[in-house]
Amino acid sequence: MGLRIGYGVDFHQLVTGRDLYIGGVLIPHDKGALGHSDADVLLHAICDALLGAACLGDIGVHFPDTSSEFKNIDSKILLRKTNELIRAEGYSIVNIDSTLCLEAPKIKPYVAQMQQVIADILGLTIKDISIKATTTETMGFVGRKEGLVAYAACLLQS
Ligand code: MG
Repeated sequence: MGLRIGYGVDFHQLVTGRDLYIGGVLIPHDKGALGHSDADVLLHAICDALLGAACLGDIGVHFPDTSSEFKNIDSKILLRKTNELIRAEGYSIVNIDSTLCLEAPKIKPYVAQMQQVIADILGLTIKDISIKATTTETMGFVGRKEGLVAYAACLLQS
């Protein structure tokens, strides 16, 4: 069995007048993530981890933010397309681990739903999708609530 590790990271600004999608879930908040797509930082980091493990470039290569095709696109569609890309290369996903860095809102009430959304898209179970979260103890742009960050790691098998 061939195993491949992958790693992804994504950043988005938090601004007023935008919806906040994280892990495919709409989270009530006074700010949302700014981006060309729906700016789902967690799904983007997971896409990059999966693409990285398959050595298929990154999310910007496959879904460029200069393309009107992807304007305001639901990132669940990007994750579904990413899954198709890695499966076409003969890989299946063993597991995904991730960490969100944000000061607010608290995302723990939404984690189970995020796990289910991601597992459904990827044909996995929620036990295969780990989602953790941390603040930055008020330090830096995350601490000032100017943005949020997601890190993801994955393992593929062939
Ligand atoms: Mg992004």
